[in-house]
Amino acid sequence: MFRILKSAIRNHKFAVASYATQSQPLTSPDVLYTGIFIDNEWHKSREGKNFATINPTTSEVIAHVQQAGPADVEVAVKAARSAFKLGSPWRRMDASDRGVLINRLADLMERDKNYLASLETLDNGKPFAMSYNVDLPMSIKCLRYFAGWADKNHGKTIPMDGDFFVYTRHEPVGVCAQIIPWNFPVLMMAWKLGPALSTGNTIVLKPAEQTPLTALYIAQLIKEAGFPEGVVNVLPGDGSTGAALAQHKDVDKVAFTGSTEVGKLIQKASGDTNLKRVTLELGGKSPNIILSDTDMNYAVETSHFGLFFNMGQCCCAGSRTFIEEKIYDEFVERSAERAKKRTVGNPFELTTEQGPQVDEEQMNKILSLIESGKKDGAKLVAGGSRYQGLPGYFVEPTVFADVKDNMRIAREEIFGPVQQLIRFKSLDEVIERANATEYGLAAAVFTKDLDKANYIVQGLRAGTVWVNSYNVLGAQAPFGGYKMSGHGRENGEYALQNYTEVKSVIVKIPQKNS
Ligand code: NAP
Ligand code: MG
Repeated sequence: MFRILKSAIRNHKFAVASYATQSQPLTSPDVLYTGIFIDNEWHKSREGKNFATINPTTSEVIAHVQQAGPADVEVAVKAARSAFKLGSPWRRMDASDRGVLINRLADLMERDKNYLASLETLDNGKPFAMSYNVDLPMSIKCLRYFAGWADKNHGKTIPMDGDFFVYTRHEPVGVCAQIIPWNFPVLMMAWKLGPALSTGNTIVLKPAEQTPLTALYIAQLIKEAGFPEGVVNVLPGDGSTGAALAQHKDVDKVAFTGSTEVGKLIQKASGDTNLKRVTLELGGKSPNIILSDTDMNYAVETSHFGLFFNMGQCCCAGSRTFIEEKIYDEFVERSAERAKKRTVGNPFELTTEQGPQVDEEQMNKILSLIESGKKDGAKLVAGGSRYQGLPGYFVEPTVFADVKDNMRIAREEIFGPVQQLIRFKSLDEVIERANATEYGLAAAVFTKDLDKANYIVQGLRAGTVWVNSYNVLGAQAPFGGYKMSGHGRENGEYALQNYTEVKSVIVKIPQKNS
């Protein structure tokens, strides 16, 4: 992932100073684009609808954005289909030139990094130090990584029985709908655009209704970079816009990141219509296992970061921390101390570690899960309430100890700054309990004993397992879920498979010259 995190982890601390940035945020960045982006042009909603996007720090309206309805979805899918036609500029373009365009987009995002990071913080509430030092650099790197793949996604030549040989072509899937969430708006856009564009697809992307602004600005950069008309279309809207895309018969693939509940609807919509390809990156309840031989300071700090990063709004958050009995009490005490020190406040202040949750609904959901934890008998050792003093949707950094596996806070995705500390005795026991969830996105183990680490790694049913680290992500490493955390892998070479169809071309070889 980002150097910042690596160095923070290496230093055994995740101090605010690690995020120190030279750049000053624009605390009220201009909102330049609020329309629907189709065929490289801005449009109004054909139904005349719009919706407000809210600043979660103040709960005030930032801007009204055009809402794409079914008629807009129709036009956008047609534009993407037309851009995909054989003989179109996009289909005729050399693969290496696709790479050039993706790199140009990355360059433009780099040029406008301060503005984009400021807009992200305004719309989403995440600390500017994170938008600027984490989200934007990772997004830019992701695009550059996939730009490099554009002319390297080779097929194979395969020996075949008889007078034939076969070669395979990795062809683009076609028109891809990409539906993204609000927790990492720019980064999720980059994760989706990178592999899809690299492999020559066309796109209709729908950002989350809570955070449409950065996606719309990036749409304009896509035009500036020189992508042909219709290659990327961006439709601001709500769940109904996403559903219309998932149900559309002329969409070849849908890539979704968000809740498991909506992931199921998308898979069903595919089955009910045209069996479009579906890749899903869904929720998690990731176990983080701390063995007694580990470095206590490091494990406490990294586990804190593994849960509280991005206000706990991470699909891979370490939301069940299993601690070996021998060190349990000390770990609890130190985790509570660390949470109490967390700086909560205005996300534009460079020393802020934690901003608001993305909206009121998410805040209320988190507060109600905190209440369930109290009621179910978990021991509250830090936080536990709405954070007072600021008008937005802030939640106190909260830590529960003595959490039992059957409590709601140990089973349900909280998606907020609420850490669950759970005691365990033996390795086999903890592997079984860690896997006793419908999810399988990520997991971690902290130990100095390599044999124990490897034993646990092979036992865990999760798409990513961190050893002595947490939340280390990068464009090169595949990311995705087992079980109900989804299917398909984003990032790395594996992501290319999600966006290509394999065509076997079988060629007769004459055995004699007749
Ligand atoms: P969500 O409803 O799954 O939203 C994710 C995306 O799907 C958004 O763009 C959303 O649009 C769209 N969408 C909603 N209903 C749809 C439908 N029927 N068909 C197609 N697309 C649809 O997530 P949420 O309601 O914002 O958050 C709820 C919970 O989901 C969170 O508490 C968290 O547990 C989980 N979540 C997980 C991730 C992740 O990274 N895996 C990210 C976000 C949330 P609109 O937002 O515009 O309605
Ligand atoms: Mg907003």
